[in-house]
Amino acid sequence: MGDIRRFKSDCGYSEDIYYGVGRNAIDVRQVEKRFPESYETVKAGRLSGKISGTLIHTELGVCMTCRKIVPVDVLVITCSDRSVVEVRGKCPHCGDTPKSVDLNEAVICPKCGSPMETEVVGDWD
Ligand SMILES: [Zn+2]
Ligand SMILES: [Zn+2]
Repeated sequence: MGDIRRFKSDCGYSEDIYYGVGRNAIDVRQVEKRFPESYETVKAGRLSGKISGTLIHTELGVCMTCRKIVPVDVLVITCSDRSVVEVRGKCPHCGDTPKSVDLNEAVICPKCGSPMETEVVGDWD
C-alpha cells in the first residue's frame, strides 16, 4: 500500500503525489507498461533464471523542467546472485530526469523557491 502526500506552497502551488508500493508492484506486466525499454531484458532474464524478481515502487521527485513535484517510478530488479539493479524512471510529463526529494529536509517549491508544507492525506493500493 502507498501513501498520498500533499505538497503546498504559499505561492498557491499544490500537488498530491501517489507514492510507495502498490498491490501490483511485483506484477511483471507493470514492467512492460511502465518500463517498456527494460521489459525485454527482464523477460529474458527471468526465462534464463538470471533475474529472480522485480518490484516497482514510486518515489518523490522534483522535475525542474516542468517545475513540478512528480512521482518517479523505480524498477528494482533482483538477480539470482542476490545483486540488485535499480532503474529510475523519468518525469511522467516531459521525460526528463527528476531530482530526488528527501523528506528529512525542507522540500523547496519548484515554482517559487520557498519551503513547502507537506502531509500525508490518504493511501492507495
Ligand atoms: Zn518534467
Ligand atoms: Zn511556491
